[in-house]
Amino acid sequence: MKKEILIVGAGLAGISVAMQFIQNHWRLDEFLPFAENFSNQITLNTAIPIYHPITIRRMFSSAHEKTMWLEKQNLEKFNSYLEPLTIEDDHYKLAKNEFGSGRIKGSSFVNPIPFLKASKQWISEHGTIIYENADYSDFNPEESTYKGKKYDEIVFCEGSNNDLNPWFGYLPVEHTKGEVLTISSEKITENESLNRKCFLLPVGNKTFKLGATYVWHTNNTVLTEEGKNDLIEKAGLLTSFPFEITEHKAGIRPTSPDRRPIVGRHHIFKKFSIFNGLGTKGYLIAPKLAEEFVHFILYDTEMDKEVKLERFDKLRNLQEKK
Ligand SMILES: Cc1cc2nc3c(=O)[nH]c(=O)nc-3n(C[C@H](O)[C@H](O)[C@H](O)COP(=O)(O)OP(=O)(O)OC[C@H]3O[C@@H](n4cnc5c(N)ncnc54)[C@H](O)[C@@H]3O)c2cc1C
Repeated sequence: MKKEILIVGAGLAGISVAMQFIQNHWRLDEFLPFAENFSNQITLNTAIPIYHPITIRRMFSSAHEKTMWLEKQNLEKFNSYLEPLTIEDDHYKLAKNEFGSGRIKGSSFVNPIPFLKASKQWISEHGTIIYENADYSDFNPEESTYKGKKYDEIVFCEGSNNDLNPWFGYLPVEHTKGEVLTISSEKITENESLNRKCFLLPVGNKTFKLGATYVWHTNNTVLTEEGKNDLIEKAGLLTSFPFEITEHKAGIRPTSPDRRPIVGRHHIFKKFSIFNGLGTKGYLIAPKLAEEFVHFILYDTEMDKEVKLERFDKLRNLQEKK
């Protein structure tokens, strides 16, 4: 039977959950592995390329780091991620190279702006996107309604805006600010993404993303000279080539004290649920976690206990006593 589901928030979390609800209805996703296929599927549906395989090259900061890589590269736990080091890696010349370098296997990146654009386009073809800020006074949790309309499920995917949520605001969705620069350079290599205390990611036309800073417990997106200078300094660890800064941006990562997502149903209002706390690796974990979450909502399957919101029950009890 077709269900009416309202998802509040159309960032990565809301989009991943919406797509899994729609696909689950179609039963397509049973056969798909995740992250890569999730993005490729959006591209297939919208013709907008969003998933880009690229070599990530780690420039070692010390001889010890290289030794650690050599130790790990043959261990079963790591050998699907680390390419065995070669002479060429040792003598790699397209970045500052004092201690050698190593390549991450099967690496890739998702470009968030086309991702959000393409997936919203696809969702609007299979569901409805309402462009408005949902006001909490318009919800009735007993009736499971929003603006008088009844929903089978209401999922809050509000990222770092969760604090004011009357039903889930007690959960410790923290704010980790990040600043990123877009730079252009004629000379920095576009073949690989260089990495050492920061990343330099080629995004086409001699343009690169240089990121990212981490400032914990900060909920403002003010652009700072400090953040900018920090990134410029870190880029200097990778390259001596000149570059021009063309853009400076800041965003907030919704993180949690134990670095795990926070998902589950409200303890009283069972039609209300939350999918949040995706943190610093949201693009990696959201597609798979969204599938598990949708199965949990639709078929009552168990979620991994590491992500369940019940781990914060003590916090809720404390706040209720206040
Ligand atoms: C600088 C930076 C670098 C990052 N780098 C990486 C990376 O390299 N790899 C990676 O995997 N991840 C990375 N991330 C993390 C990733 O971007 C986050 O995990 C992800 O954006 C979280 O998605 P979200 O949907 O939970 O939250 P958000 O992206 O914050 O989206 C929430 C959405 O909900 C909307 N909303 C909130 N409240 C309401 C309401 N009441 N009504 C209507 N709409 C509402 C907001 O407007 C927003 O659009 C990075 C993040 C930042 C900031």
